[in-house]
Amino acid sequence: MRLTFFGAAGEVTGSTYLLETDRARILVDFGLHQGEPEADEHNEFPDAIDPARLDAVVLTHAHLDHCGRLPMLAQRGYRGVVHATPATIRLADIILQDAAALQAADAERAQRHAPPGGGGARVPRPLYSPEDVRSVIRLFRGLDYGHEAAIAPGIAVRFFDAGHILGSASALLTVREHGTTTTIAFSGDIGPRGIPIIRDPAPPPTADVMILESTYGDRDHRSREATLEELHAILDGCAAQTGKVLIPAFAIGRTQDLIYEIGRMCRTGACRRVPIYLDSPMGIEATQAYRASVSLFDAEAREMLDQGHNPLHFPMLRITRTAEESRRLNDTPGPLVVIAGSGMCTGGRILHHLRHNLPSPTTQVLIVGYQGEGTLGRRLVDHAPEVRIHGQTVPVRARIHTLGGFSAHAGQSQLIDWARALNPSPTRAILTHGEPKARDALHARLKREIGLDAARPVLGETIEL
Ligand SMILES: [Zn+2]
Repeated sequence: MRLTFFGAAGEVTGSTYLLETDRARILVDFGLHQGEPEADEHNEFPDAIDPARLDAVVLTHAHLDHCGRLPMLAQRGYRGVVHATPATIRLADIILQDAAALQAADAERAQRHAPPGGGGARVPRPLYSPEDVRSVIRLFRGLDYGHEAAIAPGIAVRFFDAGHILGSASALLTVREHGTTTTIAFSGDIGPRGIPIIRDPAPPPTADVMILESTYGDRDHRSREATLEELHAILDGCAAQTGKVLIPAFAIGRTQDLIYEIGRMCRTGACRRVPIYLDSPMGIEATQAYRASVSLFDAEAREMLDQGHNPLHFPMLRITRTAEESRRLNDTPGPLVVIAGSGMCTGGRILHHLRHNLPSPTTQVLIVGYQGEGTLGRRLVDHAPEVRIHGQTVPVRARIHTLGGFSAHAGQSQLIDWARALNPSPTRAILTHGEPKARDALHARLKREIGLDAARPVLGETIEL
C-alpha cells in the first residue's frame, strides 16, 4: 500500500494523506494550506485524488488546516462518507461555513479593488460556496471514541482522544491486504496534558506504522501555571484601572480555554468585578458546542459541574452577538476585557477594538497564541511603534503581553511520550505537521531514545508501506 502527502509535509498546515491499497483508497484529513506564500497554489485540488474513486474520508479534528478543503470534495462529486467524532462534525460545520463566507468576502473585496480590465492581476476566487459546505456536512457520519467502523474494503478505523480541541482524535487504521494486517496510527494534532475541559491524549495501544505530528518537535512549552499567574496579575491589575484588556483568540479551543481559566479566577480574585466580553460570533457558537458536550469533559470540569458551576460560564461573562453590540464597546468605559477573533489579528472584530484602543497607554493586549509571520499579531508581538488597520496608521501605545503557556499542542517531551506509549513500538515512523527545524529535532530524539528512524516526506511524496 502507498501513502501520499498532500500537505503538512515540512510545514504545519494543509494536512492531507491519501492511503491506497489494492482494494481501496481513503483520505485522512483534507486541510487548507494557510499563511505560506504558495498557499493558493497548494490549495488547488490535487489531480492524484479522484473523488469518484475515493472509498472514504477520515477527519481527525475540526481545525481548518485539517478540514478546510473537504467541501471541494463534495463540489467535485464525492458522495461517500466522512468519518469523524460527533463533536468534530458540529465544529466542522461552524468553521467551514465561516471559511466559505470569508472566501466570498475576500473575493468580493479583491474584485472591487482590481484594476479595470484585470491588469494581469490574479483575483482570488472562493474555493467553495456555502452550498458546497452544506453538501459535505451531509456526508459526515459520527463515530465515537473507542468504537471501530469498517470504512472501505479491508480498512477499519478507530478514534482515540487526542486532547487538542473538543472532538479531536488520533485515528488508528487497520488495513487487511494479501492476508496480512497492518495497523497505522495517525496522531492528528496532539494536545498537551492538562488542557482544561477536554480529556488528555490517550494514544492507541500499538501500531505498525506511526504518523506523528511535530509542530513543537524541538521544544517544551513554558509551564501553564506560570502563564496563569501572569494572566491573573494582569486581570487583577485591570480591575483597579479604567483601561481595556484585548485578547485576540482563535474561536475554537483557545477561546473556551480562556473562558474556563478566567471563570475560575473570577470566582475568587479581584477581577470578579470586571466584565469579560466574548465578542466573536464563531467563538460563541463553538462555546455552545463545548457546553453541549459534557460527556467529553475531563474529571476537573465534571467536578466543577457537580459543584454547581458551569465550566464555560461565569456571572461577568457577556456575549456580544451583533456587530452593533460589538461597536458599542468602543464607547463603553473600562475596566473591561474583550476576547475576539481572529487569533492572529488578520480579520474579525478584534481589528476595530485594536484600532480604537492601541493608541491608549491604558490598553493592554494579551497575545495568547501563535502569531504567523507577516500578520498584525506578529507586528504587535515585535513591538512595532505603529501598525496599519483598515487602511489607517495606528500608533501603538498599549502594553503588549505575550503569554506563552496556552499552546494546544504537545511539546517535544510529550510527543516522545505519545510515541513511547505505542507498545510494541512501530516498525515504521513518519513525521509530519512541523517546520523542518522542529521535525528534524524530533527525528533526532526519536532515533536516540526509541531507536526509530522516521521518514520526513516532502509535499507530494509517496511512501510505500
Ligand atoms: Zn489542530
